[in-house]
Amino acid sequence: MASLGSLNHLSLTVSDRDRSEPFYNTILQFMGYQPVERTETYTMWWLETAGAILISSAKPDCTNPIHDRYSPGLHHIGFNADSREQVDQLYQLLVQLGATILDPPAEYNQYAPGYYAVFFTDPDGIKLELVHMPIVP
Ligand SMILES: [Zn+2]
Repeated sequence: MASLGSLNHLSLTVSDRDRSEPFYNTILQFMGYQPVERTETYTMWWLETAGAILISSAKPDCTNPIHDRYSPGLHHIGFNADSREQVDQLYQLLVQLGATILDPPAEYNQYAPGYYAVFFTDPDGIKLELVHMPIVP
């Protein structure tokens, strides 16, 4: 049963769905999401405890080919890990994928005690993060 205010779905626009789909398929399945739907306009993955993530194609004439997290709009998305090992494992997967790593796995105690995360981008430059927080506020 979903609770008020929890995320139901997150929908992202990508410049090339054929390029982004294998990327998201790999990282989302690592986190337990299952591919559930592929239509003309979107691809969707779903995880019972987190909701749905969709990607859809940008308009062919879009004027903003690279995502800029310092402009109004999405800055980044942080996913939870159950352990530091999972953060390290995803990092290895990202290296295999040839993904852009912004910051390799490390402790970021300035965010919270024991905060351990890897920061990377999707093929369009959307910043993503996998974090293990020993104490979730
Ligand atoms: Zn973050």
